[in-house]
Amino acid sequence: MDLCTDIAGLRAALAKARLARPAVEIALVPTMGALHEGHLKLVDAVAGPSRFVVTSIFVNPTQFGPQEDFSRYPRTLEADLAQLKARGVHLVFAPGPEQMYPAGDKTRVRVHDLTDVLCGPFRPGHFEGVATVVSKFFAVVQPDVAIFGRKDYQQLAVIRRMAKDLLFPVEIQALATVREPDGLAKSSRNMYLAPDERARAAAIPAALAELDALIEQGRGRLRAAEARARFRASLSRVADSIDYAEVADPEDLRPLADDALVPPRVLLALACRIGKTRLIDNMVTSEDVRP
Ligand code: AMP
Repeated sequence: MDLCTDIAGLRAALAKARLARPAVEIALVPTMGALHEGHLKLVDAVAGPSRFVVTSIFVNPTQFGPQEDFSRYPRTLEADLAQLKARGVHLVFAPGPEQMYPAGDKTRVRVHDLTDVLCGPFRPGHFEGVATVVSKFFAVVQPDVAIFGRKDYQQLAVIRRMAKDLLFPVEIQALATVREPDGLAKSSRNMYLAPDERARAAAIPAALAELDALIEQGRGRLRAAEARARFRASLSRVADSIDYAEVADPEDLRPLADDALVPPRVLLALACRIGKTRLIDNMVTSEDVRP
């Protein structure tokens, strides 16, 4: 496994990989490091005999707000490299910020509409930072395939749109959310949770499961307002605050109107705080496994 920390080295390693015969496809797995089984499952999902797997590890400063956890975000490079090597990754790209943002940079990528809802209003600039850095990774790696987790459902939607609009010839794959035995979605931020907070966090997937069951039983007769109220009520029993608990369209991510009937396939998405830690989770009913 090669490690590249600058763009020139990365380009040279990729040029060499592209000369391989039989030819290989380049697969990209973008991450911010502090790797867990969710990240490694992304690697497994794109690995294959004719695949050259590149994992990026970059804690992207432009996707963090001024009050967010950029400086304390966990950084565990040595352990990450060991795990990626064991999983058969070919190349790790772990650049410094000066590599990704040349001095004096003035360019940002903004995806409209999809970023106005759910996490958008609570994290101004976040998705612009994500779309910008992922565009840069696509430009430099030129992957045939890139994979993202459904854990970050809105991010996946934004990246799909961005790749289409900027004409990147990349196939975007998605992986189902990888969960702990009690249902909590695996996340690098789970490390922040104190034991009592971690115990409370199990109620998040339980709230999704409960609402999924309610929607199934409602058989198209449940109104969005009622679903939303139930969702909030079950979360508010454990969360210290709730940014949103939404019932939304899985494609455009728009919240359903209060009086709309909840269809069998709908996006349930939430962001809440347990202690100081902000956690997100989601599921698409009748598509994702109930957590
Ligand atoms: P991050 O390092 O948090 O930026 O995540 C890197 C990639 O891993 C993103 O595509 C995430 O959606 C994905 N990911 C993170 N956690 C999970 C999980 N529990 N299950 C599936 N994918 C995940």
